[in-house]
Amino acid sequence: LDTKLPKVGTTIFTVMSALAQECGALNLSQGFPDFPAPEALIEAVARHMRAGANQYAPMAGVAALREAVAAKIAACYGATVDAVSEVTVTSGATEALTDVILAVVRPGDEVIVFDPAYDSYEPAVELAGGRTVHLALPAPAFRPDWDAVAAAIGPRTRLIVINTPHNPTGRVWEAADLERLAELTRDTGIFILSDEVYEHIVFDGRRHESVLRYPELAARAFVVSSFGKTFHATGWKVGYCVAPAALTVELRKVHQYVTFATVTPIQWALADFLREHPGHWQELPAFYQAKRDRFCSLLAGSRLRFEPCAGTYFQLLDYSALSAERDVDLARRLTREAGIASIPVSVFYEHPPASRYLRFCFAKDDATLERAGAILRGL
Ligand code: PMP
Ligand code: GLN
Repeated sequence: LDTKLPKVGTTIFTVMSALAQECGALNLSQGFPDFPAPEALIEAVARHMRAGANQYAPMAGVAALREAVAAKIAACYGATVDAVSEVTVTSGATEALTDVILAVVRPGDEVIVFDPAYDSYEPAVELAGGRTVHLALPAPAFRPDWDAVAAAIGPRTRLIVINTPHNPTGRVWEAADLERLAELTRDTGIFILSDEVYEHIVFDGRRHESVLRYPELAARAFVVSSFGKTFHATGWKVGYCVAPAALTVELRKVHQYVTFATVTPIQWALADFLREHPGHWQELPAFYQAKRDRFCSLLAGSRLRFEPCAGTYFQLLDYSALSAERDVDLARRLTREAGIASIPVSVFYEHPPASRYLRFCFAKDDATLERAGAILRGL
């Protein structure tokens, strides 16, 4: 079979969650909360289902939800986006990311990504016939090397994919990074795909530097987010993409034939909840910062080294004082033998560096974090 994605295997999130289940291990690998979504949100879904919101939603998304998203963007980033022509609801951020790439990348185009990179970007570029250009974020700071970006930009560069707060490193970009990106792409025709699914999970008083704060960048950007992260409901798979009207037209050409529309009652429920409970996302930084702090303090006395993450619900742990094994081997062994599953970071690189990190998800209730801490201290 002459396959379209010869290098692609099964995603690490499936592999590690399956192994965790098989071994009965604590699953801190794939990122998802082990606590419930807000009760009022669940109630709203049930209410809308009973009220009959069970048929196709509008292709671009339920209008009330797109308006609620536009209102949140105005409140958070001071940006005005048009709910009708610039916001599209998708079946998870994953769908939006793939739709954008399929909509803009032409055969032979180059797409710049920063390694370690979320694993869905490159296969989509390949499906589009493009070429992924990988630039490393050097450990341990994982800051972009803007001179390397400048050198990588060429006549074939079509798209740059950015992700802040960053999965898997938990780093967040600063204003200077966005300013540099704007400068380097000025007058180039390059599009930006900004993966901001962790936009509401930033710590220590930091500000999320959304592309939507930077009009010059926003004018040629697709900004993607996910309700799964913000509302503790990753299994609902509802996300959205914000882009200028002309770019949104192109995005919707793909979206309408990939899924057509996204699950209806959940869109209505999210619209209600966003309007009625703005406190939920406003309190998310403090909520997850407390979990990060608890997880990090439980590691005191362990042989794992770390710098507390600045955002996301992932903490990288450097195990070099513990083992010389490859991270993929250690992640499997710890799942089998120690009863704790994590994600090996090397899988997110074209050329994995020598650094040794495992990623742990701390979107867990206190009892889970305590158990994880006890296992990790004993290693
Ligand atoms: N991008 C990043 C960086 C992520 O961590 C995730 C979470 N899985 C996604 C995209 C996809 O989000 P969703 O589950 O809404 O498809
Ligand atoms: N984004 C989640 C993570 O990084 C997993 C998403 C998935 O399973 N595809 O763990």
